[in-house]
Amino acid sequence: MKIVVGIKQVPETTNVKINEKTKNIDRRGLGGVINSYDLHALQAALMIRDQVGGEVITLSMGPDDFAVSLQETLALGADKAVLLSDRAFAGADTLATAYVLGEAIKKIGDVDLVMVGQQSVDADTGQVGPIIAEMLNVPQVTYADKIEAFEDHLVIDRKLENVEQTITAKLPILLTATDKANNPKYKNVVEIAKSFDKPIITWHASDLNLDEQRVGQAGSPTIVRSISEPKKVAKKNHRLSDDPVTAARELVDILKQKNILTEDK
Ligand SMILES: Cc1cc2nc3c(=O)[nH]c(=O)nc-3n(C[C@H](O)[C@H](O)[C@H](O)COP(=O)(O)OP(=O)(O)OC[C@H]3O[C@@H](n4cnc5c(N)ncnc54)[C@H](O)[C@@H]3O)c2cc1C
Repeated sequence: MKIVVGIKQVPETTNVKINEKTKNIDRRGLGGVINSYDLHALQAALMIRDQVGGEVITLSMGPDDFAVSLQETLALGADKAVLLSDRAFAGADTLATAYVLGEAIKKIGDVDLVMVGQQSVDADTGQVGPIIAEMLNVPQVTYADKIEAFEDHLVIDRKLENVEQTITAKLPILLTATDKANNPKYKNVVEIAKSFDKPIITWHASDLNLDEQRVGQAGSPTIVRSISEPKKVAKKNHRLSDDPVTAARELVDILKQKNILTEDK
């Protein structure tokens, strides 16, 4: 089975600064890590490959330093990696991001399964996976918790707020993985050493069959107008009296005020 896993590098810290002019994350000087949900998507892909055979290709769109994260995916067991890097891709929203990723998946060719995380932990939209599925015209199952692979189909468990589903789905398909999908494994020294012999291929805009009006800022119909942190409101604390009897009376009064305790008739 040929599996492509979307890997987004996100800032290592939650203490990110927003560029006031562009309203984008100022990534300068921020360390990067693989989006945590993508590690679950990768682990699911590796387990499927080990079970039914095939290859796992990791794919990322971003600046050249995203190669570090792709190198890590090779050390975790992926077979090869593709980095989509070009100044023309800068300023992409979810639609323009998914378009470029979708065209790269078409170029990879004969892909049976596309796996992405359920959402990124920085922009957080959860839109990229479903848009890629639309672009590739393949079915999608979001929030995959458990995936069992067979030669030509998958059995997927997904848990939503009020319903649990088990779905049988034919390939090719796109899945978005939750953090319940598995426990991502740790890298070991042997795999790290082997990873340097595996290829990271870089594709620029000219390597793909792209409509330039659909990439980067030009291809992004959404613009972040303003961005701010929600105001933090301090919780009110009530200190009870040191005398236990008085404290008990105060507590009963508070619980009555909140209608947690009612008066006996
Ligand atoms: C309205 C809007 C405007 C934006 N404008 C800009 C901008 O001008 N400049 C800018 O730098 N950023 C911009 N962004 C952020 C950038 O477009 C998003 O980070 C990107 O589109 C991915 O969206 P997301 O992080 O919400 O992904 P989600 O949909 O939450 O990600 C789901 C999964 O998709 C996969 N995925 C997502 N992104 C990638 C990727 N790049 N490579 C590989 N796999 C991926 C991962 O597996 C991830 O777990 C904007 C975002 C929005 C919502």
